[in-house]
Amino acid sequence: MKKMADLQQYEKVQILCSCGIRSPITKLYFCKHCMKLRCKRCVSHEVDSHFCPNCLENMPSAEAKLKKNRCANCFDCPSCSHTLSTRATSVAQPDVEDQKKSTTRKVYYLACGFCRWSSRDIGMKDKQAASGQWDEKENANTTRISDLLEYYRQLSIREKQERERKRFTRRRTYFSMPDKSASSRTSRRSSALMSALASLKTIENNEKEIAVEEVEASEEVEPLPAKFYTQAVVLEKVAAIEQRHMQPEFSCSNINELFPRHKHLLIKRSQRCRECEHNLSKPEFNPSSIKFKLQLIALHYLPDVRIFLVPNLQFERESHVTLLFVNPMEYTTNIKLEAIEPENSPLANSKIVVPEEELILAAKDDTAEFDDQPQDGTQFEDKPEIVQFRRAHKLGILVKVTPLTSTNDVIVSFILRYVFKNISTPLRNTEEKLPEISWLQNEVTINLGTLSQ
Ligand SMILES: [Zn+2]
Ligand SMILES: [Zn+2]
Ligand SMILES: [Zn+2]
Ligand SMILES: [Zn+2]
Repeated sequence: MKKMADLQQYEKVQILCSCGIRSPITKLYFCKHCMKLRCKRCVSHEVDSHFCPNCLENMPSAEAKLKKNRCANCFDCPSCSHTLSTRATSVAQPDVEDQKKSTTRKVYYLACGFCRWSSRDIGMKDKQAASGQWDEKENANTTRISDLLEYYRQLSIREKQERERKRFTRRRTYFSMPDKSASSRTSRRSSALMSALASLKTIENNEKEIAVEEVEASEEVEPLPAKFYTQAVVLEKVAAIEQRHMQPEFSCSNINELFPRHKHLLIKRSQRCRECEHNLSKPEFNPSSIKFKLQLIALHYLPDVRIFLVPNLQFERESHVTLLFVNPMEYTTNIKLEAIEPENSPLANSKIVVPEEELILAAKDDTAEFDDQPQDGTQFEDKPEIVQFRRAHKLGILVKVTPLTSTNDVIVSFILRYVFKNISTPLRNTEEKLPEISWLQNEVTINLGTLSQ
């Protein structure tokens, strides 16, 4: 007998999304407006805010773009990419008046608490104050990169201009002189058009000439410096590939050239249903909050199916598998299963026989969450040949599985129908809204593992 920890096998139970791709329930959203499942591939993702994961500073997207999506104050260790912290230390400095005497001064440097790298290792100057900018390594190609960026920006403006002009000229053929009876809207539109054309003209005039020289390919390669043949390699001094890739603009080969990197910003994003454009997930704006303003994850609306107990499965022999159904909603719901024959399913390779009766899942009660005692199912008219056990809002159901494969994992498929009550808060208090009750269905595919040897 295999008894699996039901929390660790969520990937084994896959649910068919409305877009036709299967995902575990934890990766699905439920749109209450379309009453359909949505996965990460069929929702639109929107960036709500940028923030630094270390100092939790919030940044508008324009500023984030300007700072190349990096925080101005926080740094990552160039050696192990852990966050660097500012350390204070005192150093003795010769006195200005009397060279023989010395005074101690407080200075600051950056250090990694994980790998012990410090900014002193690479000869970065200590700072006199804890705040303010740190020395930065100048990229030798900055001018070239900004020239290229400017060149491509102008190129894209010119292309846009050309497109606009084509559109205007095409439209202009249908233009007639506005007569006196013409509405003010038309004249306003034509004046807007004129000003747009004029602004395009000014852009054209402001365009400055940028020379982008082409780089010639060459057959000749510079010979390796002699030190590679004569000096022994000290591996601790050579930068690792990961360290080099973290700073592609410098591509340092020596660890002494690794400079601290500004910490990358993270984003908070919200998901929106592509069909009805309602929000499915919206985080709170504050970067330090992990709460959501809105979170329509499927786990809160769909009965969760888990593998509870799988006996030794044998080729072409029927076995009883216990599946656990969990009701996440605060109302009693009915479920009904319908088997899918392996020949009608793209994934299933084995036969499943499911109970024909409609079954009742008790309402979830947060106060009784830990009261996990087995319950007597008489009030629900549970049949012992179908219902293995009933605990609060959980129900263990017996299904019969006949593996029809001898080499692969045993996979079965069925349709889960369940009652969904759309309880939305009424707009006005006087209005009493009754919940909309509907039967919804989802295709569930379960991987029960390999046959027993
Ligand atoms: Zn999808
Ligand atoms: Zn920061
Ligand atoms: Zn480090
Ligand atoms: Zn929707």
